[in-house]
Amino acid sequence: MRQFADLPTEVLFKEDLLRLGLSLGSVDSSGSPYQKKSYFIFSFDRTPIQEMSERENLRAPEEIALLGGPHGLRRTIVSVRLNPASPYRLEQDQEGYVLRLEGEPLCRVEFPPEPPHYRRTLRSGKPVSEIAPCIEWGYLIYLTVFRRCQYVGADQECRFCDINANFDQQRAAGRPYTTVKSLEEVLEALEIIAESDTRSQAYTLTGGSVTSILRGKSEADFYAEYAAAIEKRFPEKWIGKAVVQALPKEELWKFREAGIRIYHPNYEVWDERLFALLCPGKSQYIGRQNWMDRILAAADVFGPSGVIPNFVAGIEMSRPHGFASVEEAVRSTAEGLEFFMSRGITPRFTTWCPEPLSNLGSQDPAPLEYHLRLLQVYRDTIAKYRLNPPPGYGPSGAGQAVFSVSSFMDVLPPFLAAPLAVS
Ligand code: SF4
Repeated sequence: MRQFADLPTEVLFKEDLLRLGLSLGSVDSSGSPYQKKSYFIFSFDRTPIQEMSERENLRAPEEIALLGGPHGLRRTIVSVRLNPASPYRLEQDQEGYVLRLEGEPLCRVEFPPEPPHYRRTLRSGKPVSEIAPCIEWGYLIYLTVFRRCQYVGADQECRFCDINANFDQQRAAGRPYTTVKSLEEVLEALEIIAESDTRSQAYTLTGGSVTSILRGKSEADFYAEYAAAIEKRFPEKWIGKAVVQALPKEELWKFREAGIRIYHPNYEVWDERLFALLCPGKSQYIGRQNWMDRILAAADVFGPSGVIPNFVAGIEMSRPHGFASVEEAVRSTAEGLEFFMSRGITPRFTTWCPEPLSNLGSQDPAPLEYHLRLLQVYRDTIAKYRLNPPPGYGPSGAGQAVFSVSSFMDVLPPFLAAPLAVS
């Protein structure tokens, strides 16, 4: 804390929880119901479901809010990543929930209230929470409409990603995981949300990559069809975001014309050598230079602030190929931030936790120091180029941010993004 006194204290614990996960003690929903972990795309756990002897996967809250404690933490929203071996342990007591670090109380904890639509089912009998789960304390509806990825196997699948293995483990655990969600069921779920929910402000349309065709359609045609149907039924009700590969500009116009306003062509890792090694499918099918060129070209379609590539923060230190020192790793990603931010494009992070069913899963995460230094660079580079916090994530600033899988919004100055202009 002394070394990183210029960062909000809350961020130290948030990043540590994201990299290490937490163990779930005596927590159940016998009191007031709370929103449970939906496994909205990946597992984001440090242990496979098969090894969760206490059925933690069925009891875990989607997120937690850290509050108070000896450090006087301001309200901080953190995604829950399960790890029975973590030094962080979540427990229930007479006053509610408490988070302990190595046995000592760290802070009080709140769970997200269960959205009213989580008790509802579609005509097909599927739970609405499976088709349209909400994250970021209700801000974002997460529509993983294709739950698998066509990059399969060690020579194609991104090495940090467990999308396909997670699909298999969820099905094996009895969860009604839908491979391809139909347009009709997505619209039906959104109807129910629209009539009962007041917290959601954005939706993300996403899923695995489509390398050839899916249901007779290219990647752009497949995903853009959902966007068009959602925007036709609910014009501009939510901020529409799409996470798809780096596609040519003419394909991106299909999303823009359908009503998507924010585009996430996820770049994952900046270093050229690591991009080829850690994202072999993306590297072979699209290539790093092409990926970069398409990100820049996308600014003509969505505007620079509407293009937000994700970096999986920490994989640049993964073994056996990653950087050996924090200095080198931070320097590399800082170069990527400089490249994009100097052009008005603001990347964002997801903090890496090694998911055991992914190719890189059987190792420790990156050091906490790496994540904190990266956040300092992120904050300083945004300030250098006088950029606003990326839109579509709700408010920024410690005590206000709701983005739960990285602290990049927590380290920025308090700011409530203006609504996106629709041209
Ligand atoms: S493209 Fe990579 S990160 Fe995205 S779903 Fe496929 S394997 Fe995972």
